[in-house]
Amino acid sequence: MTAEPLLQVRRLSKLYDIRQGLFSRLVGHVRAVDDVSFDIGTSEVLGLAGESGSGKTTIGRSVLRLVEPTSGSIRFEGKEVTAFDRPQLRDFRRSAQIVFQDPYASIDPTMSVGDAIAEPLRVQGLASRSEIPDRVEKLLTDVALPADFARRRPSDLSGGQRQRVVIARALAVGPRFIVADEPVSALDVSIQAQIISLLEDLKSRLGLAMLFISHDLAVMEYLSDRIAVVYLGKLMEIGPSRDVVATPKHPYTEALISAVPDPSSRRKRIILKGDVPSPVSPPSGCVFRTRCPYALPDCAAAVPATREVRPGHFKACIRDDIL
Ligand code: ADP
Ligand code: MG
Repeated sequence: MTAEPLLQVRRLSKLYDIRQGLFSRLVGHVRAVDDVSFDIGTSEVLGLAGESGSGKTTIGRSVLRLVEPTSGSIRFEGKEVTAFDRPQLRDFRRSAQIVFQDPYASIDPTMSVGDAIAEPLRVQGLASRSEIPDRVEKLLTDVALPADFARRRPSDLSGGQRQRVVIARALAVGPRFIVADEPVSALDVSIQAQIISLLEDLKSRLGLAMLFISHDLAVMEYLSDRIAVVYLGKLMEIGPSRDVVATPKHPYTEALISAVPDPSSRRKRIILKGDVPSPVSPPSGCVFRTRCPYALPDCAAAVPATREVRPGHFKACIRDDIL
């Protein structure tokens, strides 16, 4: 990684208000993200894993300020994103884009594919009318779609083709960073690999950095340089992709990986006990302790510090005698 990371997230927290009744009385908070820190380097892909409800989307949207963080610092190329005013945010939207899970909801069905891809160029004033056709053709090529797709309607396209259009639209403004929030989860398994390899290609060809969000560790391993694992809004483990998958250091990561089907492996499936606790009143100390097969009484006492257990590989767990 370079001396200054592209994105630096420090102690990010997000509480959502819970309101009830006729007068919308504040009755509590959902602790969606709690004290999460990580960096993403230039051209680096960080995979963000964790079960549904663990705070991945909130983290992804917070770093782009599509959600207002409750506290913490987000620096992009050294600038504090949480302090951006409207014009600065507008500039930031050219550097950092998002791709959502559902390609059907992400494109206006009444627009042609070409107009959908050109829209961000027009909104941001990045191309004149006469330049637009060439730019659209180039963007379609970037996502490996034929140029004549510009005239098609989104309804004519398959899910995978639509997701390519969504990616082309995100690329239109020339971003250096993309948050991809479960970009393949809505697609057939056979199509997933094609989109992943497109993202890999964009990373190496355009030098794009990415926060790649997925609940599926198998999907992200190939694309990600490093993987971060979250549970109930807390960062459990972060490290080089291969290390995290081959030799996880946190019991939660171990359980997640044991759930990935792998016929060649004899590792045992770890079935976690109980349900995910409510993020309205998470457990004291380590939030994972109520389901952890290795929990000790001490795990309830204090939030475990994030410690480096191998070069570049960190975990938030007090136990050293396991894994
Ligand atoms: P993930 O993407 O990992 O599934 P989310 O970030 O979507 O996780 O959600 C984290 C937690 O925050 C969940 O408990 C979810 O129900 C809650 N949450 C998400 N968005 C809101 C919201 N707008 N208002 C209240 N709670 C929310
Ligand atoms: Mg999500």
